[in-house]
Amino acid sequence: MTISLNVLSEDTQQSQSPPAAPPIARQQPGRLIDSHGRTIHDLRMSVTDRCNFRCVYCMDPNFRYMPKSELLDLDEYIAVARAGFSLGITKLRLTGGEPTLYPQLDDLIGTFGRMGFDDLAMTTNGSLVDYSRARQWKQLGLDRLTFSLDSVDPQRMREMTRAQTSLDSIVRAIEAAHRAGLGPIKVNAVVIRDVNDVEVADLADFARDHDVNMRYIEFMPLDSSRKWNRSHVVSADEILSRISARHELTPIDGGDPHSTSMNFRFADGAAGSIGVIAPVSRPFCSACSRLRITADGKVRPCLFSHDEWDIRTVLRSGGDDEALAAFIADAVWTKQAGHGINSSEFIQPQRTMSAIGG
Ligand code: SF4
Repeated sequence: MTISLNVLSEDTQQSQSPPAAPPIARQQPGRLIDSHGRTIHDLRMSVTDRCNFRCVYCMDPNFRYMPKSELLDLDEYIAVARAGFSLGITKLRLTGGEPTLYPQLDDLIGTFGRMGFDDLAMTTNGSLVDYSRARQWKQLGLDRLTFSLDSVDPQRMREMTRAQTSLDSIVRAIEAAHRAGLGPIKVNAVVIRDVNDVEVADLADFARDHDVNMRYIEFMPLDSSRKWNRSHVVSADEILSRISARHELTPIDGGDPHSTSMNFRFADGAAGSIGVIAPVSRPFCSACSRLRITADGKVRPCLFSHDEWDIRTVLRSGGDDEALAAFIADAVWTKQAGHGINSSEFIQPQRTMSAIGG
């Protein structure tokens, strides 16, 4: 089955520009708010839809990329980030596809590094990360790297990524990121029943052995094969009980109220830590502070939005920073209260994770 991107626009054909937000949305300069009273300060920017992996829960083997002309260029990403910064965005995360495939990544990181974000991070599958690149990104202003790694079994990793990259090379990439000072290193693992759930405790061992924050993510309905169903979800409770059967955990209280994960350290004081992100069994939408921009210039107020707003047209019709900021503020005001995965009316969005960027 070929997944064509024309499908993507089924959600968005009607609404290219967001309706104007009421004046209240603009009454607090430097504070981006939605209609549910949430403050948005965390921008996830997808800088490419290209990827060298074909993870089973994300991208079909024969996924077709968007034409390069439809993707934003370097100056356009910078303009959107600058507008976001002016509105109170303090955290910027670069995603993909696989962002390390983006040819002008160093220029992008360098520019964002000088913009003054409190936290500039990037999520990668690690396959193209080595010490010299990691050190270069650190010097350019990148603060942290987060790795996606769903299995510590070499054979299962290949089956899940549908790629030839070895587990050892990802371990070397994580060590390189540590050495370059791009920590604390987080590792995201999507847990799927009857795929990799047997490794839940082994992934905790990996966190201890490599001093990383292992973040288990409940499987979400954003896969391009559209095969998600609830029986594939391993809940946070089940994940925690499997880890605790091998390692006693101590909850880490406090921390960022907008954090998506519940955090734990090992009771025996070992290195590493555990995070559990439970969008299905314990939704955290009420404290959401996130906004997304896709590689083709769509503003997605929520990961599960059916509406997305086309800021590329504003960029390519000469829109200045003020116009971009107004557009983003209007788009944020339309942000839905939550993902609705647990409601009977839930409909999986057309756009898949690989074209959103997580
Ligand atoms: S599903 Fe949407 S509202 Fe909920 S946490 Fe994710 S982005 Fe925020």
